[in-house]
Amino acid sequence: MVVAELELYTYCPFCASPLVAVEQEGTVRPTCSAGHFRQYGNPAPAANGIVQSGTDLLLVRRAREPFAGLWALPGGFVEWDEDPAETAVREVLEETGLAVGITGLPLLLLDRGDPRGNTLSANYPAELVDPRQNEPHPGDDADDARWWPVANLPPLAFENHVRALGYMGIEAAAAVPADPKAKNSPAPADQ
Ligand SMILES: [Zn+2]
Repeated sequence: MVVAELELYTYCPFCASPLVAVEQEGTVRPTCSAGHFRQYGNPAPAANGIVQSGTDLLLVRRAREPFAGLWALPGGFVEWDEDPAETAVREVLEETGLAVGITGLPLLLLDRGDPRGNTLSANYPAELVDPRQNEPHPGDDADDARWWPVANLPPLAFENHVRALGYMGIEAAAAVPADPKAKNSPAPADQ
């Protein structure tokens, strides 16, 4: 798998002066000498919905790169003033047309497998607000949205979605090889 390296800034985004490499606890953090800016290189926060209905799981097919054509949990990046739970509900609605409510605590996982950069995802269990309104309509970043039987899921785009489902006892496979540095992965059922 392609693991994105953190790209370090060269110039201060506020005053455009060259940044100085300051080492903090073994990590180099480019820093503006005038005090405007220090690059910490945090993973980007994202949120996903693990929406189940009976023995089915709601998935979307990605319309855009990275991983266009592959299936994934509905989700996306957290906006500046959003709670991650709000992000999960919003993204499920945008990508599937379905209104859901969060039913439990999120699983927080780091994904090193996104070529855009590392992601910290909050994976929320969720359910339909109205079980009768259960017909998905793809939108936004998704060109298909469907209920899949949990016993027969397609390969998933993001390795952290596979791990999140694993913690919930749902077996899935990643479409790209797993990150060898990923920790706390549940053991596959056949080992
Ligand atoms: Zn500056």
